Amino acid sequence: MDRCPLCQSQDVSLLYASNLPEQRSGSRYDCTSFGLGLHPDIFRCRSCSFVFNEPATGELDHLEEYAQTEDPDYLDQKLSRRLTYDRELERIEAHAAGRELLDVGCYAGFFLEQARERDYDVAGVEPSIWGARHAAEKLGLDVFNGPIEAFRTERRFDVVTMWDVIEHLENPLEVLRTVHRLMHPGGVLAFTTHNLDSLAARLMRGRYPFFMEMHTVHLNDRTRDLLLAKAGFERIAVLPHRRALRLGYLVSRLRRLGEWPVGAADRLARAFGVVDRIVWVGGVGLETILARPLERSP
Ligand SMILES: [Zn+2]
Repeated sequence: MDRCPLCQSQDVSLLYASNLPEQRSGSRYDCTSFGLGLHPDIFRCRSCSFVFNEPATGELDHLEEYAQTEDPDYLDQKLSRRLTYDRELERIEAHAAGRELLDVGCYAGFFLEQARERDYDVAGVEPSIWGARHAAEKLGLDVFNGPIEAFRTERRFDVVTMWDVIEHLENPLEVLRTVHRLMHPGGVLAFTTHNLDSLAARLMRGRYPFFMEMHTVHLNDRTRDLLLAKAGFERIAVLPHRRALRLGYLVSRLRRLGEWPVGAADRLARAFGVVDRIVWVGGVGLETILARPLERSP
């Protein structure tokens, strides 16, 4: 990697060397995959402090890999996702007046379905064929299947959301500029991502769980604001993001780490009937960022 994707500086250095094992299995791009803390070489721009890594290279290119992503396990998360999204919708409604909403990276359509219930006029963009099909056919949502760069519409939106999307992008600046063109002045952009200035990231350094193969963008306070400014947005708020998870789901994810007496934990959870209990997870450096498009794109 010889150039910073945010400021184009060539003064880029290696921050954390790859710790990927030689042998791997399963798709690296499943939404619920768990290659936490396992990452390729991670770079840092010495000019603007942007931290990034190159997209994983496999048999398929980055976009094609997302197009092929299928993840039926994800459907089990519907209830807990709803709790998480309810909270985020309340945050958005505190700042947004209009009801035209676009969810970029809408996956199976859970968030859009919920926004529609709250009287938003919704549309989605989703590269995964499986995700877009579920959203359109099972939930009757208006979803474009493909990357945001290929999305063509005359509509302009009051709210654009990007949940767990920014950190997957190859060129977040181009994508946010595209989003800017799709928005009404006075609208609200809402997205979540992890922050390298968080306590968790500073303590864990190269072992921070959000360093993983499918994450290519790692913002900090400075690069978050620089990215927004360059794309023509003004930051409104940065809020801690907490996520509701089903305890049974959490246990099943920990099983994949292979460092957990899961048989025992699973049986215990079932015996006490708590697999469906919801726990709120926070403190890992995830944030919700709200921003407003400035009148003129730079
Ligand atoms: Zn830079």
